[in-house]
Amino acid sequence: MEILALYTSPDTLGSALAAGARHLAAALQGFALVYQSGRPAAEPDGWAGFTCAKDAQIAGAELDDFLREAESSERPVRIDPPEGGPRIWARGAGGVFGFPIRHNGQPRGVALLGCPGPWPRVQNAGIESILRQIALVLDHHAVSGSAGPVEPSDEVLRLSEQLLAQDIELIKREERLTMVERLKADLIETMSYELRAPLNSIIERVISVLANEHENMSSTGRDALRGVLDDGNALMRMLQNILDLWRVKQGDVSVEVQDVNLAEVVEEAIFNVRDTLQPDVVLEKRLPASLPKVRTDLAKLNQILFHLLDNAAKFTRRGKIELELSLEDGQLFCSVTDTGIGIAPDDQEQIFDEFYRVDSSADSRHRGAGLGLTLARALIEKLGGALSVQSEIGQGSRFSFTVPVTLS
Ligand code: ADP
Repeated sequence: MEILALYTSPDTLGSALAAGARHLAAALQGFALVYQSGRPAAEPDGWAGFTCAKDAQIAGAELDDFLREAESSERPVRIDPPEGGPRIWARGAGGVFGFPIRHNGQPRGVALLGCPGPWPRVQNAGIESILRQIALVLDHHAVSGSAGPVEPSDEVLRLSEQLLAQDIELIKREERLTMVERLKADLIETMSYELRAPLNSIIERVISVLANEHENMSSTGRDALRGVLDDGNALMRMLQNILDLWRVKQGDVSVEVQDVNLAEVVEEAIFNVRDTLQPDVVLEKRLPASLPKVRTDLAKLNQILFHLLDNAAKFTRRGKIELELSLEDGQLFCSVTDTGIGIAPDDQEQIFDEFYRVDSSADSRHRGAGLGLTLARALIEKLGGALSVQSEIGQGSRFSFTVPVTLS
């Protein structure tokens, strides 16, 4: 049990603070509230305090110093229990936080929050917003000049309660979102791993059967197995894309820079899509006579080029795909141009959205989950660059990007 204790004077100010504390206690689930007017006779064990610095009457030089520090601070200040310090800190294993209450840039007080256990996962932004409302009440108190004990003003209390209730909703929503995000993360990670293991084994077995083609296998059987292999590989790529995109969005992906030979990168990119080209399509590269080595994230560059070339191969029935690469003023410029089906202006806005595919029902021949461009763009942005598209229906498309690199 955690206790949120409140020490205030029995006037409007005290009542408003009490309302704030009640809401705060509701938001910090698991906290109970002890509300007392004036200084309590006995400090409860494992307490958490909530007070206004000006009215602070709690003993202890450390607390006074702390309140002063917190009041003049821009952000929440944390204090750990001092060795052999006053009893109020004794069980504050999680420390005590002093949230400065400010209004119009002026310090108005300090809300002291603490708990004996670990600090609960509550958004500081939500708490700060509540504290702003309290600061407003403090202002009202100052303006109305009610110094001595007076009856609480119903209107002030009602308004502050209303505002605080909204903030509590906000905190709760943020908490729920955090929980949903956590569940989603677990689900995506687990699912991708659980599905990839059996899928991998299916793919390996099919490859092994096809490699040792049995003489008595009919050509129909072989074709069917090749179909299984294609579908298996596509599914594997999709799972990998989902996982990669999720990690990028979570900020769970770091840039790992190394020496990169760009000519080799181009060769590998071309090699990887060679087999998916339509018979009437040629794939060409356009490179400067010499390309120096650069330092960049090789794996990400490979992935980006793969997605752009894979799309060009999928959506070009005849003509040419050209991969161009050049280097100027510390910027690596890349483009993939095709003579494919093209993309309508309205769709050009959306193709970078997750799971967006142009007319997905009409062209089921083109496999994909609508994640390739989302991922390519996210990776390019991770490298500090930007991806853009120019396209015309029936004429073709050109995807180009620039990323900063250093010469090695
Ligand atoms: P997918 O994995 O389904 O290809 P992408 O995110 O890579 O998903 O692309 C989204 C959509 O953008 C594709 O479904 C396709 O409709 C369109 N698109 C992408 N690249 C091209 C291209 N080179 N030519 C024509 N359409 C394209």
